[in-house]
Amino acid sequence: MQQQADVIVVGSGAAGLTAATVAAKEGLSVLVLESTGYFGGTTAYSGGGVWIPNNHLMKAAGYDDSREEAEAYLRASLGTEYDPKIVDAFLDNGPEMLRYLEQHTVVRLTASPVPDYAPAAPGWHISRCLLTPEYDGERLGPMLRQLRPPLPQMVLLGSMQIDFNDMAQLQQMLRSPAAFLHVTKMVVKFLWGKLRYGRGTRLINGNALTATLLRSALDVGVKLENNARVHNLITDNGKVSGVVVEKNGQRTKVTASKGVILASGGFGANKEMRGRYIPMAEHGWSLQPEGCQGDGINMGVAVGGSMNETNPANGIWSPMSAMRDENGELVAYPHLFFDRHSPGSIVVDRFGHRFVSEGFHYQNFVNTMHKNGITEGFLIGDHPFQRKYGMGLARPAPYPLGSFIRSGYLVEADSISELARKLRIDVAALEHTVAEFNRNAALGKDPEFQRGEDYYSRFMGDASHEPNPSLAPITTPPFYALELRPGDLSTVCGLNANANAQVIDANGEPITGLYAAGLDMNSMMRGHYPGGGSSLGAAMTFGYVAAQHIAGRA
Ligand SMILES: Cc1cc2nc3c(=O)[nH]c(=O)nc-3n(C[C@H](O)[C@H](O)[C@H](O)COP(=O)(O)OP(=O)(O)OC[C@H]3O[C@@H](n4cnc5c(N)ncnc54)[C@H](O)[C@@H]3O)c2cc1C
Repeated sequence: MQQQADVIVVGSGAAGLTAATVAAKEGLSVLVLESTGYFGGTTAYSGGGVWIPNNHLMKAAGYDDSREEAEAYLRASLGTEYDPKIVDAFLDNGPEMLRYLEQHTVVRLTASPVPDYAPAAPGWHISRCLLTPEYDGERLGPMLRQLRPPLPQMVLLGSMQIDFNDMAQLQQMLRSPAAFLHVTKMVVKFLWGKLRYGRGTRLINGNALTATLLRSALDVGVKLENNARVHNLITDNGKVSGVVVEKNGQRTKVTASKGVILASGGFGANKEMRGRYIPMAEHGWSLQPEGCQGDGINMGVAVGGSMNETNPANGIWSPMSAMRDENGELVAYPHLFFDRHSPGSIVVDRFGHRFVSEGFHYQNFVNTMHKNGITEGFLIGDHPFQRKYGMGLARPAPYPLGSFIRSGYLVEADSISELARKLRIDVAALEHTVAEFNRNAALGKDPEFQRGEDYYSRFMGDASHEPNPSLAPITTPPFYALELRPGDLSTVCGLNANANAQVIDANGEPITGLYAAGLDMNSMMRGHYPGGGSSLGAAMTFGYVAAQHIAGRA
């Protein structure tokens, strides 16, 4: 391994790879160190949504926005946690970072119809959440084998990624020759990729984003080492001047003449830290990969930085269900979209009462679980609902349900009372809840929680369903239920840093040579979640800011 670089980046997710690519493009020599065998971290598991207000892509697609409106929206969404200096840096640099990547790299993002998550807030807009288009993994060549595969529970056949259109085609394949052809082509391409690279090569979402970042980093000469865990920072008269990294059982000192960027993805895989900072951690699950152990934060603290412990929430939450796979491994599934938002379902607590609008975004949904001390809820739907929209791991038709019922993941019953007994919920309470919900849902109303009345929950429902895209009575047996727990997609509390992404000490002074981005830098959203992509948008922006600052361009 090389012993010196201008810039060392610890971690290879969106934050690290953006920073590395930009620094190299600005003429610096860059070494990315990744502790696991795979590049990509949590980013490779993600939806690849990137929230950047006032960006040129949304405007080109006909969605308007302005800096003032973006600021108003963030002020309203972040409340007392609004930090003008950090927000200004984000609003100034986010759109610039997008243009930069478009101009100098193969990273591409596209405008989407996805709305911000707080429709009632001033400055609310559509399309600040940009999505990652499909990318052909073969363009990575042999490096594709080192790209972290998507979460198996989010794909088909182990690593075949599918998008909304593929899903629709799959559902139609037994009725439409065109759909059958589409699915056949997709499966053949997948099997071909599997033969050559051991995995599917058609990449979407976070896998596509990571692959384009990796390709870009390689194109500008970034050096990447996997299975290389950084253990500690080296300091020299108060300045961070390098790292100690372990590879193949050997510890090596590597000097960074211009700076070290911590981008190691927070601590979702660290049980002890989760217990300290994540509410109800023992009841839920994290979807972060094994490498996210809090190393960056702990190394930053060891040289005088501090972790922010004042965020109203320390993670990005999602309700999750889980079952054991054939090897006995627990597989958790995040209920981000589809099922709980779609008509024909409700979520109740263990007393048989609804406690939240099922159409809420994931952060608010689980915040409500935390606030009310709800460690488990139940998603309930009827047969047409399950077959049309699916319930978590139990996908919609034509997928068979047998194995999910046999494993106990999906509880099946011929009546609501039987379902209540099987779930050990008070029968009368659940019957009353469902009857009351059904009576109103038939009219397209939800007087209790106003589900399907705001833009976001209508958007997340089924636009073809009337009168309310999010509501339908639950009437047709068999009925199904699965257990939902409060889980997390990633942590967000990280090192206190300034608007240049420099880690700061107890006096607010930057620690020379040390930067943080992504989950290692305390989230500018502070645990609020104004729109889809709120983590990756900031991660890439502050990765860009750190690199530009090191290059002397800030
Ligand atoms: C299912 C799912 C969907 C999501 N969808 C979205 C979305 O659409 N939009 C969004 O904004 N957010 C989303 N998120 C959250 C988002 O993925 C993360 O917040 C984000 O990817 C964090 O990026 P990062 O670069 O900080 O860290 P990561 O992507 O986790 O990368 C950190 C890397 O550092 C490595 N590392 C750790 N310690 C060391 C060490 N000591 N030495 C060297 N390397 C080290 C890790 O192994 C890892 O590879 C989603 C998360 C999940 C699980």
